[in-house]
Amino acid sequence: MSAPRAPRPVILDRDGTIIIDRGYLDDPDGLRFLPGAAEGLRLLHEAGHHLIVVSNQSGVGLGLFTLTRLEEVNRRFTAMLEAAGAPLAGLYFCPHRPEDFCDCRKPNTALLRKAAAALGFEPARSIVIGDKSSDVELGSRVGATTILVSAGTLTSDGKPAQADYIARDLTEAARIIHRLDGAGAAAQHGS
Ligand SMILES: [Mg+2]
Ligand SMILES: [Zn+2]
Repeated sequence: MSAPRAPRPVILDRDGTIIIDRGYLDDPDGLRFLPGAAEGLRLLHEAGHHLIVVSNQSGVGLGLFTLTRLEEVNRRFTAMLEAAGAPLAGLYFCPHRPEDFCDCRKPNTALLRKAAAALGFEPARSIVIGDKSSDVELGSRVGATTILVSAGTLTSDGKPAQADYIARDLTEAARIIHRLDGAGAAAQHGS
């Protein structure tokens, strides 16, 4: 009998996926969960998935807010997730501008790979969830399963979805993941 596989790590976008996207959020008081987000993340945590946030925060590089301010927002964000029963295993952000051509701004993969090295998982085993084409592209680049959070079939930057799955919110995403993992377990028992 083979050992059961560990639940797959879930890589999450922050703005427009977990919290309301206010554009360059620089105030902890502006943090609000999107509908279904807290519940979905709690379900994933309870099912044993590591939750890791990877976020583009070019507002720092653009000089719209300081790194100190971003850290204040991140502290409150982390506390909100803990209070919701969904503590993070990691939080990574890129502070650069698009024109800096760094290797960490999504869809570039440096932050996901850093998380994978820190937590010891294969990037291709992860599940990447986000609302923009750069999130889906990030997942595709590492061979991960991708889930677009969208009420329709377009990404929030207006591109046709290329994701493996579309979920209206994170509660639906959690159900999709549960179904996928359940199917994998059933196939293992059958072999
Ligand atoms: Mg987003
Ligand atoms: Zn960067």
